[in-house]
Amino acid sequence: MDSKTVMEFLPKYLQKHKDEGFIETKNGLIIANLLACLHNRHAHTAFKWVKGHSGHPRNEGADCLAGAGAKKVVSDDLNMIPPPQLRISGAKLSTLSQKLAYRAIRARKECTSEQQPSTQCNLVRIASDLQDACNHQIRDSTIWTSLCKDITCKCRQFLWKTIHDAFMVRRWVTCRVCHNTESMDHIMFHCNTQGREQVENLLRKLWSHTDNLGLECLWTILATEAMYLVWKLQCKRVIQNDGHEFSAAEVQTRWYSTMNRQLVTWLPVLESNTDLPPKWMGDGRVSVNIKRGR
Ligand SMILES: [Zn+2]
Repeated sequence: MDSKTVMEFLPKYLQKHKDEGFIETKNGLIIANLLACLHNRHAHTAFKWVKGHSGHPRNEGADCLAGAGAKKVVSDDLNMIPPPQLRISGAKLSTLSQKLAYRAIRARKECTSEQQPSTQCNLVRIASDLQDACNHQIRDSTIWTSLCKDITCKCRQFLWKTIHDAFMVRRWVTCRVCHNTESMDHIMFHCNTQGREQVENLLRKLWSHTDNLGLECLWTILATEAMYLVWKLQCKRVIQNDGHEFSAAEVQTRWYSTMNRQLVTWLPVLESNTDLPPKWMGDGRVSVNIKRGR
């Protein structure tokens, strides 16, 4: 084995995770299977650490198998359920907390409830776009968990509903501005309304002033807030303003108001990033109060 993390995990934490029924354990099903295999040996098992990629035949063989598996377009249908006599059916009552029980109920519901076709379609599209843009394969579970990171509650709800196609976007009508079929995709990325284009330009401009520092959390904040603002502008324009466009000044005011508020909220996150240059917050480019027109 070339992973010290796994080697340390097994003796130190295995009993704890076993007592908790692997409910919150990352790759819990795999670890439960590993445990079942170890129990099934009826013999003492010892692990020895070897340096990875150093020519050890079995380590190289395992790497080869892992690489071949990762390249498979369709996953193998593996039986990941341990035999009944070795199966851990849940957490011990003595270790069960309210939080753990809630997680277990949610996990069970997620296994039994089927996704809507529109949700599946959106998840496939997100994964496919990411593959095309970044050559990065992503699982559905990662898409969902990514909504919990660095994103405000309102934006998270908006994105969650969007992926579930839960908004009443009237696909049977055409956009009153550019006469294309209405859809969330059109509203977010293609519509020629004053608000959408201007917000996109303001986002590009603000991001360029960060010198593309590669701050994933900052980009997440800016991009999700920009998308949510486009949606709010769209709703206000269609429902309250009877389709009348916002003026450039109105859009700009809303943009700066949103960004100032959110960057204040997320200041501790940004400040905790040690990759920032020393005077980053004081140089007036991206600060708590974004200077208009910069
Ligand atoms: Zn349009």
